[in-house]
Amino acid sequence: MEAKQYVEKVLSKINRTNPGEKEFIDATKEVLISLIPVLEKHPEFIKASLLERIVEPERQIIFRVPWINDDGEIEVNRGFRVQFNNAIGPYKGGLRFHPSVNLSIIKFLGFEQIFKNSLTGLPIGGAKGGSDFNPKGKSDNEIMRFCQSFMAELYKYIGGNMDVPAGDIGVGGREIGYLYGYYKKLKSLSEQGVLTGKGLTFGGSLARTEATGYGLVYFAEEMLNDNDMSFKGKTVVISGSGNVAIYATQKAQELGAKVVALSDSNGYIYDENGIDINVIKEIKEVRRGRIKEYLDVVPNSKYQEGCNKIWEIKCDIALPCATQGEINKQSAEILVTNRVKVVAEGANMPSTLEAIEVFQNNNVLFGPAKAANAGGVACSALEMSQNSLRLSWTFEEVDKKLKEIMKNIYNNTKKSAEEYGQPGNILMGANIAGFMKVAKAMMSQGLV
Ligand code: GLU
Repeated sequence: MEAKQYVEKVLSKINRTNPGEKEFIDATKEVLISLIPVLEKHPEFIKASLLERIVEPERQIIFRVPWINDDGEIEVNRGFRVQFNNAIGPYKGGLRFHPSVNLSIIKFLGFEQIFKNSLTGLPIGGAKGGSDFNPKGKSDNEIMRFCQSFMAELYKYIGGNMDVPAGDIGVGGREIGYLYGYYKKLKSLSEQGVLTGKGLTFGGSLARTEATGYGLVYFAEEMLNDNDMSFKGKTVVISGSGNVAIYATQKAQELGAKVVALSDSNGYIYDENGIDINVIKEIKEVRRGRIKEYLDVVPNSKYQEGCNKIWEIKCDIALPCATQGEINKQSAEILVTNRVKVVAEGANMPSTLEAIEVFQNNNVLFGPAKAANAGGVACSALEMSQNSLRLSWTFEEVDKKLKEIMKNIYNNTKKSAEEYGQPGNILMGANIAGFMKVAKAMMSQGLV
């Protein structure tokens, strides 16, 4: 069967067997279409039904998470862990706690994670998990009780050589601490490699907190340098104000850029003098407040309701670091009209398929999530290495390794895009480079 026909056949099967799962269907479509030239060169992958196999999670766990809120009432949430692919290493990927979480979202994130993790060059498979639990406004005790109930089920399915969860939206150092504490109690053993993003006093890695944001900027700087540009003197818009956005802002500013806007799910702030990141850190990391509060400290800045309007601000570089689908076709067109030069994704799949098409048709340099934000999980893998070695590397050592990894990812994606006849198409290059390693491993391991 011809490659194109084969991909169409698999896509229509995905549509049939995953009804209503828009995010998952979109994510598989984006990857599978870009693999057509690979399948033309490697008919053995078609013969081995490799695509049908790779789009089917190896295991999906869905469980009840009952817990008691501060008013003594019983609440029930749904927990997920999708163990997508372990061909190249133990399942690895974050946990997301957000009311929007459903099976489609966890499957799309898990599917992306397979290729992202492969791109890091480190031996980690792909997985994702989470819950529709909403951490916003919850007390510390409520968060702890929820994490303990979540782990009371999840502990059966994870382990340092089996599946290693970490953070994602709504899951940071605090949550990982509670999850790890309960895992340790349930298993009666100290197994630090079971989770990453841990606190520094119990096996966490220096630079893990910064890694996704720093890695994103290192990746974007590679894209810029390769096109005779740099962050220096550029105006940057970054959406979000969580862990990724904060450290992307910090690194972009260190490299001489001016970051003029950040957002949360209510709206965005604009500071023409450049965002004061220490104010944001205090609001978001200490007070766990809303971005609007920036106005109280920097009265010359502006606040606008509605987070998606952030893309109307004129900028040279856009780093979407909030969530999936945040840049639609219309926002992409505005960014193009405003002459954006680079869009690099800190969040997972923040640009819709239509938005990506707009960027590609208008020669915007586009850094897809699975390459551009791989620094977080790469550093998680470095945390696993340190846990196995039972030692800790310095911040500088980890940061140096991170920089090297991001550079390699850029070079490999670029090389793959050239090899398959689409020079400059980093999206395609990332999908191909990420896929090839997993595909070769799956071919060698037989039908499992
Ligand atoms: N949630 C992050 C991601 O999307 C990090 C996962 C990890 O460290 O395992 O890649």
